[in-house]
Amino acid sequence: MEKKYIIVIDQGTTSTRAIAFNLKGEICYIAQKEIHCLYPFDGAVEQDANEILSSTIEVIKECIEKGNIYVREIASLGIANQRETTILFDKNGAPLCPAIVWQSKQSQSYCDKIKDYENVIQNKTGLILNPYFSASKIAYLLDHYNLHEKAKNGDVLFGNVETFLLYHLTNKKSYYSEIGNASRTLLFNIYEKKWDEELLSIFNIPKCMLPEVKDSKSIFGYTTLFSNVPIPIAGILGDQQASLFGQTCFNEGELKNTYGTGCFLLMNIGKTPRRYNQGLLTTIAWGMDKEITYALEGSVLIGGAAIQWLRDELKIIQKSSESEECALKSKDEELYVVPSFVGLGTPYWDNDCKGSVFGIRRSTNKDAFVKATLEAIAYESKDVLEVIKEETGKEITSIQVDGGASSNNYLMQFQSDIMNCEVKKSYVKESTALGVFYLCALTLNIFTSLEEIKKAHRYEKIFVPMMDEKKRNEKYKKWKLAIKCARMFK
Ligand code: ADP
Repeated sequence: MEKKYIIVIDQGTTSTRAIAFNLKGEICYIAQKEIHCLYPFDGAVEQDANEILSSTIEVIKECIEKGNIYVREIASLGIANQRETTILFDKNGAPLCPAIVWQSKQSQSYCDKIKDYENVIQNKTGLILNPYFSASKIAYLLDHYNLHEKAKNGDVLFGNVETFLLYHLTNKKSYYSEIGNASRTLLFNIYEKKWDEELLSIFNIPKCMLPEVKDSKSIFGYTTLFSNVPIPIAGILGDQQASLFGQTCFNEGELKNTYGTGCFLLMNIGKTPRRYNQGLLTTIAWGMDKEITYALEGSVLIGGAAIQWLRDELKIIQKSSESEECALKSKDEELYVVPSFVGLGTPYWDNDCKGSVFGIRRSTNKDAFVKATLEAIAYESKDVLEVIKEETGKEITSIQVDGGASSNNYLMQFQSDIMNCEVKKSYVKESTALGVFYLCALTLNIFTSLEEIKKAHRYEKIFVPMMDEKKRNEKYKKWKLAIKCARMFK
């Protein structure tokens, strides 16, 4: 039977989705299932690995059944996954403890203990010593669930979400980590492209619990979970890397910003990694045909989540999309909201900064609050862009965007104004899944070159800067002052 579809699993923090693409890259069906987060104590964020797995299987089944797809018509599956989230499981694939979610800070003390190695760690991994990444989460779980002996005996397997899903989809035949995901563990040497013995010993993690690392563009194995016809798994990327690929940022210097719960700005930096300062991370974008492409990354911890806060906590809007209308109504130019509810990411990496509001007057109303909160997302992203410009010495005149909050035209226009650069919103909203679709299509030779993919990429809207320079500089100066004041309040 003719192959007609590629199904991409998009396993995110809040939901798991399966997206069926036809071989031209058009979306034919989307199945989605929300998954739960548990907050057992302050700073801890956990998930049930079994729920991650069952939701994945359910959405693939729904895609096949309701999308009227015959399994024989599926050319491949691919995976885009939430990064850094850490799962320990036994050889049967049974989780040995809860999955620790990337946002969780419960392993902070494990990072504090090894502060002296901060520089060594950064030099080898391109990351900063921070509980977001997997290594301290593994160390915490081994201690907390008494798994050291078992791990030394080879009876504990570590996986990020892609590894765990792959192990199950292939009926325990494939135990691999995708190289970009591996680069987010704090255990992978991004220069030597292998697990690093020194880092393993710093974190006291036995090497036998780590999977073999494979290029992103690979046949990772086959699944027969959906019928006896084996389906290849032909591409895996972490979510932000997937969106960089889906936005066709294949060339050095091209960059994208994703406006989801947080914002993640990634720039393709080509084949040669280097260390950046000012809180920027160096990471592996993807491995293809034995060649690694690197990216630099800056993170805004609270992006669209600030709009959720307006909706769920302040209750001044009912839907996130209402924020656009409110912002357009307000003429307030004085209010600054710093939504640092969980600290600040790039370039500050200040874990203890709390949120603040500056410039409230008698006339300040809810629309002004909404407008200033949206603008904060744009200022935070500009903070990241400014350090990228400084660290790379590059002029940046254009940026590609995606993610839930990029549907807000007020935010996108303000982003273009305040960054003084073109903001290009892609036509396909699902750029994460699209990235993995492209990757699988390359593995399967459905597409034969990156140029072919780039040519077909379309934009829905391009925003160009309209604000005059004086106003832009004044506003950004005020924002920097607001950040400074917020950081003093401790
Ligand atoms: P994630 O992948 O991190 O779950 P999404 O890309 O689905 O995030 O984006 C969801 C986020 O985008 C939410 O925080 C939501 O508040 C925000 N959002 C969605 N639509 C809008 C909008 N029209 N204006 C502003 N924010 C929005």
